[in-house]
Amino acid sequence: MSTLKGKTALVTGSTSGIGLGMAVALAKQGVNIMVNGFGDKEVALKQIKDCGVELDYHGADMSKPAEIEDLIKQTEKRFGALDILINNAGIQYTANIEDFPADKWDAIIAINLSSAFHTTHHALPGMKKRNWGRIINIASVHGLVASTQKVAYIAAKHGIVGMTKVTALETARTGITCNAICPGWVLTPLVQQQVDARAERDHVSVEAAKIALLSEKQPSGEFVTPEQLGALAVFLCGPDASEVRGVAWNMDGGWTAQ
Ligand code: NAD
Repeated sequence: MSTLKGKTALVTGSTSGIGLGMAVALAKQGVNIMVNGFGDKEVALKQIKDCGVELDYHGADMSKPAEIEDLIKQTEKRFGALDILINNAGIQYTANIEDFPADKWDAIIAINLSSAFHTTHHALPGMKKRNWGRIINIASVHGLVASTQKVAYIAAKHGIVGMTKVTALETARTGITCNAICPGWVLTPLVQQQVDARAERDHVSVEAAKIALLSEKQPSGEFVTPEQLGALAVFLCGPDASEVRGVAWNMDGGWTAQ
């Protein structure tokens, strides 16, 4: 039986993509889930419910600190504890720095970086009281290396890798660990938008745009899947990973090996 059975996880942005993959992987281990995000809630809830765990939904906007505080409080109230925090919600916008709108910068920093500070800030006291917790920050290869046209995203992802290390150090003498996962390309709604934009720009098919996108950066030529990332999260939550602290673990088809 999984050692995680009966624990509770909050996965921010779990109505689609990587967050939903994390939620389903944890639910398969018997972990109860607080779902959050703006995607198709009914589809996400059904997939998680089919795993036979307890679940709930909170519609906090991760750019709003007061709503984030309520999300953590409601999770603890509904399930009795928040054991596993997965900071996953994120958005993207692409433009050169001189064309990058200031409001997009603010939104990306708020959702992709500051939200993880606010969730961690409110979740840590309960985890410390129980002397057990797992915090996983979904960073990106863009937390380790840069690309053009993604200034806010890359600043936020490098920031979250730094925040991961601080959290890991401040909890090093406890049963709480904090690590980051750094995926390469994963075919989720966030990346589909970039594929579609590329297909339109280059007057090629969506299939050709996918191949071009992958071959530019990801040596394997294959997308990473939400299921593979979910399996890594399950490992990081388990007892064998209790001394994995403060890492930024890439799963990227070789992207950052170059
Ligand atoms: P996605 O668009 O499928 O999922 C993003 C989730 O965040 C959705 O549930 C969305 O509703 C939610 N969200 C967005 N804004 C929100 C807000 N203000 N409040 C609450 N929820 C909000 O995209 P994804 O690719 O699954 O992205 C998930 C995470 O993985 C992001 O942090 C992203 O940066 C990271 N990531 C993605 C890739 C990739 O290739 N797809 C690679 C590396 C890292």
